[in-house]
Amino acid sequence: MRKAVNDIQRCVACGVCALQCPREAIDIYKGCHAVVDTEKCVGCGICESACPAGSIRVEEVIINPGDLSPSTTGTERRSRTASGKKKHWYDYLWIWTIVYFALGFFNVLFAWLGMIDFLLPLIFAIAGGNKWFCNHMCGRGQLFRVLGKDLKCSRRKPAPGWISSKWFRYGFLAFFMTMFGTMIFQTYLVFSGAESLKKAIKLFWTFKVPWEWAYNGSVFPDWVVQFGFGFYSLMLTSTLIGIIVMALYKERTWCSFCPMGTMTQGICKIKAKKGDLKKNCHL
Ligand code: SF4
Ligand code: SF4
Repeated sequence: MRKAVNDIQRCVACGVCALQCPREAIDIYKGCHAVVDTEKCVGCGICESACPAGSIRVEEVIINPGDLSPSTTGTERRSRTASGKKKHWYDYLWIWTIVYFALGFFNVLFAWLGMIDFLLPLIFAIAGGNKWFCNHMCGRGQLFRVLGKDLKCSRRKPAPGWISSKWFRYGFLAFFMTMFGTMIFQTYLVFSGAESLKKAIKLFWTFKVPWEWAYNGSVFPDWVVQFGFGFYSLMLTSTLIGIIVMALYKERTWCSFCPMGTMTQGICKIKAKKGDLKKNCHL
């Protein structure tokens, strides 16, 4: 019997498989990794072709037929895979991503709104011990799906294995946080008067692009504006990287090494481990 099997060591808990599974057979366990309900799984392989980390595969598995409900066999198998899913308001957050970049293009102060996408995943992970934001509300991930899958701008080829390897993911997270720290330091220099406001954005942390039109004065001090330029640079750079890997590989390849995804999965794993330890202590 063919069923989806997940390699939890490779899984980045992005939730892409869960979103696409027509049988709702996949759950993201405490923000740590995907878990397949073999009773519901019909082995259609949709999750395998969607998984950006190459972690879930459909394989021949031995299951006692008595363990399965009748709905997992026969014509039900085919009709269920074609069924659609109910849409929610948060399925359209990809529109917000476009609006965000458009607003920031004309007035860089709107870049501050990106802090919502920065803080909410952390709040969900720290307070709730889950990756619900990444799994359901990430407008950027949704935009990659719309561009890559719906508009067919992606080759939809598997990405090289190193992209979702632990060393690359945590290395990229460390690099990203270092760059974030540099951006905060630049903001501090403007705050302290040691440097003046620079109306430019930095693409790929390297190329300085003049961006004067995005700011013509306001009631806010210069450091607030400097942060806007820095944060917009960060958001635009990461989105451009996401678009490049979307075109080259599977549409949501970015999710397999997104620093926010890595950070929130790390938090969820620590929380889950602590919870399990606590439970065991009470036994
Ligand atoms: S193989 Fe199909 S039914 Fe099974 S978990 Fe993957 S998407 Fe869902
Ligand atoms: S990496 Fe993402 S798509 Fe792949 S199995 Fe894990 S949660 Fe599912």
